[in-house]
Amino acid sequence: MSRSESRKRAARQRQRQIRAKAFSPAPDGPGPQFVADVMLGRLAKWLRIAGFDVLYSNQYGDDELVALSRQTGRILLSRDTRLLVRKSVDRFIFLESERIQNQLEQVFQVTRISRLPGILTRCLSCNDRLLNIPAEQVRNKVPAFVYETQTQFKSCPACGKIYWAGTHRQAVLRALERLGVRS
Ligand SMILES: [Zn+2]
Repeated sequence: MSRSESRKRAARQRQRQIRAKAFSPAPDGPGPQFVADVMLGRLAKWLRIAGFDVLYSNQYGDDELVALSRQTGRILLSRDTRLLVRKSVDRFIFLESERIQNQLEQVFQVTRISRLPGILTRCLSCNDRLLNIPAEQVRNKVPAFVYETQTQFKSCPACGKIYWAGTHRQAVLRALERLGVRS
């Protein structure tokens, strides 16, 4: 057997092991929380847009990801079979596709999510819950046309970034609806 063949074979073997130990969450448990591995920045961002609590940093090492998942009960999201075959990893979703739509679909399916926690309720950079702030407080911090056309503003308590619904919200809603999830 060539080296590349045996590598592929080992990878398939790991995938089988991983599929066999996949967990299924309690149907009436609290909403799922996640920790995403360094490869899944896009997925982490989309889940945050939908309102989910997702820890993500491109600095997390494998040991740190496993520890975070174990200590906090967060579901580890990963495409890394070498990471997921570890004995210490028990709550995880092995993302089988590289496509973001399929990844979201898989997460929603495994966790049986039919309703989103709340679109644009979390900071996309920090994961913190956004706070409502009065419009007059953002007057000098957002473009003039935004200040004039928007009525609701939110800000991140950690980084101070300001969010408003804008047209972005409709696009996000449509994308998520296509996946069969209600907001
Ligand atoms: Zn923030």
